[in-house]
Amino acid sequence: MIDRHTVANRLIESYNRYMADQDPKKGLVSAWLKVPGYDKMFYGRAYEHPVSKKWIHGERACIDTALDRIYKGNIVDKKLPLGCEMITTLEPCTQFMPTRSGCSCSELIQQHRIDRVYCGARDPWHYVDGKPPFHPFKLIMTNNQAALERCQQLFSRLGSLED
Ligand SMILES: [Zn+2]
Repeated sequence: MIDRHTVANRLIESYNRYMADQDPKKGLVSAWLKVPGYDKMFYGRAYEHPVSKKWIHGERACIDTALDRIYKGNIVDKKLPLGCEMITTLEPCTQFMPTRSGCSCSELIQQHRIDRVYCGARDPWHYVDGKPPFHPFKLIMTNNQAALERCQQLFSRLGSLED
């Protein structure tokens, strides 16, 4: 398990990286991945794919970065090793989104057998009838006030999605 202090630090680091680089082709959501056997966590941030113009969400960007490192570039059909854990600034998406590349992040996380995701903010956009969606993994919200406030501040900028 990733301890709560580390989770809070990574969420705050995500916020700081966003504030330092607000390139419109990069997104608000970023993720960190702890892979057994690797000391450093892998990082990924959402970005607009230069060819398809669809968005690679932060969770997918992070998983791709880790796979690329682990399998030295041969990532097609590869799975992460068992026991990975993820930290993400926003609750992973569950629903169809025409602007997104690939399946939902919730489904992607399940495909890679990640059973624990630490999260900074919930995403009401994916609620069904006002209720949070089902995730096929354990979602653990941060209880760190500084991390929570920064993640909520980030996602107040996603308001246009709710139109
Ligand atoms: Zn997503």
